[in-house]
Amino acid sequence: MPDTITQLREAVRDVPDFPMPGILFKDITPILANGALFKRSIDLFLDACSGKGIEKVVGIDARGFLFGSAVAYQLGVGFVPVRKKGKLPYRTDSSAYKLEYGEATVEMHVDAIEPGEKVVLIDDLLATGGTSAAAVKLIRKMGGELVEAQFLIELEFLAGGANLQGVPFRSFLKY
Ligand code: AMP
Repeated sequence: MPDTITQLREAVRDVPDFPMPGILFKDITPILANGALFKRSIDLFLDACSGKGIEKVVGIDARGFLFGSAVAYQLGVGFVPVRKKGKLPYRTDSSAYKLEYGEATVEMHVDAIEPGEKVVLIDDLLATGGTSAAAVKLIRKMGGELVEAQFLIELEFLAGGANLQGVPFRSFLKY
């Protein structure tokens, strides 16, 4: 039986030219749809969080919510969404960034993180690191102690980790 990483890798579906020509989109929905694989993917994040005293999980819109909220539930800590501009109802801080495809702004509620709270940042995929770097800025602005950034998938050839402003990061499936 193939190991967990191999099984997860085999489940990721490559979709060429989505959402625009030239982008090879890594579709994680086959992992979500498979109960055993979804559980194993969450367990990878949980193992990586173990012993770090994490007090809050920050997940990035939208697939970071799927992994991040399951991790927060299992850790018994709060979950904070970083959302695309205009989605959060209360007062927000915002941070603009460049994406592998296009430009965008992300926002977080101003009271989402307490100063000194130990935070893990979670998303499905690290590409250029622009999105995560914007989230890092928001977390630090609020005084959160960013312990680690974690990604199910990393597109290593884009070297996004270099944009994370020194935040330790890890990924489980590397391409
Ligand atoms: P980046 O800011 O370049 O690191 O892009 C990361 C964000 O865009 C993550 O939220 C990903 O879900 C999404 N993303 C970027 N590139 C891809 C890709 N090739 N396949 C799937 N998602 C991607």
